[in-house]
Parts: sequence; C-alpha cells; structure tokens
Amino acid sequence: MAKKYGMIHDNNLCIGCQACNVACRSENQIPESVYRLQVWVKQEEYPNGSLGYEYHRQSCVQCENTPCVSVCPTKASYVNDEGIVLVDVDLCVGCLYCVAACPYQARYVHPVTKAPDKCTFCHESRLARGEEPACVTVCPTDALIFGDLNDPKSKINKALSERVTYRQKESLGTQPKMFIVPNHKGGIRS
Ligand code: SF4
Ligand code: SF4
Repeated sequence: MAKKYGMIHDNNLCIGCQACNVACRSENQIPESVYRLQVWVKQEEYPNGSLGYEYHRQSCVQCENTPCVSVCPTKASYVNDEGIVLVDVDLCVGCLYCVAACPYQARYVHPVTKAPDKCTFCHESRLARGEEPACVTVCPTDALIFGDLNDPKSKINKALSERVTYRQKESLGTQPKMFIVPNHKGGIRS
C-alpha cells in the first residue's frame, strides 16, 4: 500500500525551545525573513488558576483535501504518492492563488525562487534518504512523532491509538495529516 505520511505535535511534551524551527531553517536553507515552521508560544491562565504555556506549531498541516492544490491553474501545486503536498517551482506562474486559498496561512513566497514554499516533511532531502524530517530528529522532548498513517504498526499509529488528538479547523473538511495532542494542564473552573 502507498505510504501516507503524517505527524503528531504533542502539546504536553513541547517546551517551545524552537529547535525544530532552527533545524528546519538549516536543513531547507530557509532565508531569515520567512519560515516553513515556527512554534508559537502563548502564556495561559488555566481554569484552576495555574499558569502555563500553549504551543502552536505553525506550518503546513498536509491536508488530504487540499484547497491549495484545487485552485492551482498549472498543477504546480500537487500531492505526491506519499500524500505530501508539494510545489513544482518550474510550473508555477506566481499567481499566488494557493497562498490565498490555504486556510492555515502555511504558504509564503520564497525570496529566491519567487514561488510559494512551505513544509514538505523534508521530502526532497531527509525522507529521500530514509530519515525522519529534521524537526522530528532534533526535538529534545519527542514532542513530534512522524510516520506512515497507512502502516498499522507505525509509531504514529501507535501514538494515535494511545493519545487524544485533534486537527486544526476540522470543520473545513481539509482533513489535515497533522494531529495535535492538547495539553492537559487545564481544569474545570468551579
Ligand atoms: Fe495546502 Fe495549506 Fe493545507 Fe498545507 S495547510 S496542504 S499549504 S491548504
Ligand atoms: Fe499554482 Fe504557483 Fe499559482 Fe500557487 S502561485 S496556485 S503554485 S501557479
């Protein structure tokens, strides 16, 4: 069966250190003015009165129903046979429909290629060598879990069977392959 890659970001394990962001920038040679991946950190007061942090991974969520691909007039935006959404720079005419269509604000215009760019799960480098994406490898707390959703024995499927997860903006029907474990530090305000 064809692979279908996905990822989990566990908010309970994330510490907002940005190692993933730095590794992504280095691996994919992303200029300073833009990013494929950031972790946004927000301080929260929980219903039980305690203070804590929420972590939001801002990157492409690798939708299965892809608004960015549907609007592309030249098929420059496409999904490969491993379920990864990619951009063929040579076919891109720079209309930026895909940037506007992405409900996750995950695409930016690369300052060098002038074409839209985004997270590719390091498909063209690390995955091609049989390695995990750079962000997953460097995470010091194992907050990122990557793998084949079509393999019942994969690490990601094991984690999905054990942890409660949700996906961003599920009501849009985009079916992201990025799963989030919400943090459990909150409580019910009495
Ligand atoms: Fe496309 Fe945006 Fe979905 Fe990524 S998050 S697949 S860029 S619509
Ligand atoms: Fe397709 Fe390029 Fe237009 Fe995006 S900017 S929709 S990739 S042609």
